[in-house]
Amino acid sequence: MAAPSGPDRPTVDTDSASWWAAVADRTLMLNRCGACGRNSLYVRPFCPHCWSEDVKLAPACGRARLYTWSVIHQNVAPFDTQLPYVVAMVDLDEGPRLMTVLADCPVELLCAEMELELTFREHDDGFVVPVFRPLT
Ligand SMILES: [Zn+2]
Repeated sequence: MAAPSGPDRPTVDTDSASWWAAVADRTLMLNRCGACGRNSLYVRPFCPHCWSEDVKLAPACGRARLYTWSVIHQNVAPFDTQLPYVVAMVDLDEGPRLMTVLADCPVELLCAEMELELTFREHDDGFVVPVFRPLT
């Protein structure tokens, strides 16, 4: 599957193609190491903790905690259609820290360590990205 291209689209390379295919199927995957058991992101053909090449994709449970964030009030096209929006670093329950966007979250509710759950945002052209929202 060829990913749509554009300034608001990631570069999908050989290492990340299966990760993005899983996202399109509404699953967030992690790199799980068969040698040390730790998880990592982004997807790469080795473990950044022990350098083993015994890594496989495994599904994340979808729970995370908010580490830090920034509220974006101004941006240029094509990033200006949903202002303001919240860019966040979240700590997945499995360990890796992921940069993402928070959805359905009023700015006044934001606080460090708040519990989040995975959801997905689908763009008009069918491109899907993983985002997080407050745990309900
Ligand atoms: Zn490892």
